[in-house]
Amino acid sequence: MHKPLSILQKLEHPLFDKYNIDVRVKRDDMLHNIISGNKWRKLKYNLEYLSKHNYVGALTFGGSYSNHIHAFAYACHQQNIPCIGIIRGEAHYASNFTLRWAQHWGMQCHFVDRKTYRRRFEPSYLDELNQLYPNHFIIPEGGSNSFAIPGVAEVLTELNDQAEFDTLITPVGSGGTLAGLISGDSVANNTQHKILGIAVLKQGEYLVEEVKQLLPHEAKQHNNWQLLTQFHRGGYGKFNSDDAKRIIAFNQQTGVCFEPIYSGKMILALLDLITQGYFKPKERIVLLHTGGLQGLGGMIEQGRLDAKDWPTLPSLSDE
Ligand SMILES: *Cc1c(COP(=O)(O)O)cnc(C)c1O
Repeated sequence: MHKPLSILQKLEHPLFDKYNIDVRVKRDDMLHNIISGNKWRKLKYNLEYLSKHNYVGALTFGGSYSNHIHAFAYACHQQNIPCIGIIRGEAHYASNFTLRWAQHWGMQCHFVDRKTYRRRFEPSYLDELNQLYPNHFIIPEGGSNSFAIPGVAEVLTELNDQAEFDTLITPVGSGGTLAGLISGDSVANNTQHKILGIAVLKQGEYLVEEVKQLLPHEAKQHNNWQLLTQFHRGGYGKFNSDDAKRIIAFNQQTGVCFEPIYSGKMILALLDLITQGYFKPKERIVLLHTGGLQGLGGMIEQGRLDAKDWPTLPSLSDE
């Protein structure tokens, strides 16, 4: 038995008692105080690959408040890897919360407009970037490539030692994390488990195909998973003041901090599903806390959230 890298914590909430369900949270937000939970898992084997090959640096993509950009910049800094971030947006974003830190850790930010950013998966654009930044290892947006899968799959290896459960829930952005969990579950071949993804963006149906693409061959038949697409709250990064209030109340109730872009949308979906009678009595649910708390810094800075409502925000400074 390996020592799990993050704890599994039981959550107390009146609704859980009322509906007689058991809810635990896998605290991947605590994996590292700077590298956000699932990004740590996804970067693990990417960085291992990178360090074994003769690249001069690494390059990746993200929005100007991206958890991935933040995590990637720090991880490269730790391993002395020069890194480039292709950032969607204008150069004045360079002074925002996330990018200030990314640059502090040595990331070189290369800003592109939305139209250019849309080309981020096109081979011709990647060729152009390769010419501009020769011999850089390119990692896609969100860190979701084939190296991400075994890293996230380790969540299941740990969980299988930590507790028996029926349903594992994760927020879904690009689908890499969900694919990693499915892959990890397929190894144990435990068909008792159900893995539920909550899409945090609008019209997320396409993500089903993305997840299937990311699954390694041996996991493609493992179909005990489902993506729910109705809990996006208006789209990526969007939430209203009532959504924020419900997340803040949940955080106060449980003592764990969830943010409104990813993990908080999973919480709102959980609460809605409970009252809709989605779960059976005694169902044992595990929530994957994917981290992302650095994102609160930008939302507070923009005045979208009030700092006093987020007292559990961890310190993001390493120095
Ligand atoms: C990136 C991110 C996700 C989404 O993960 P994907 O692998 O892109 O689906 C979920 N939660 C947090 C906190 C994230 O930063």
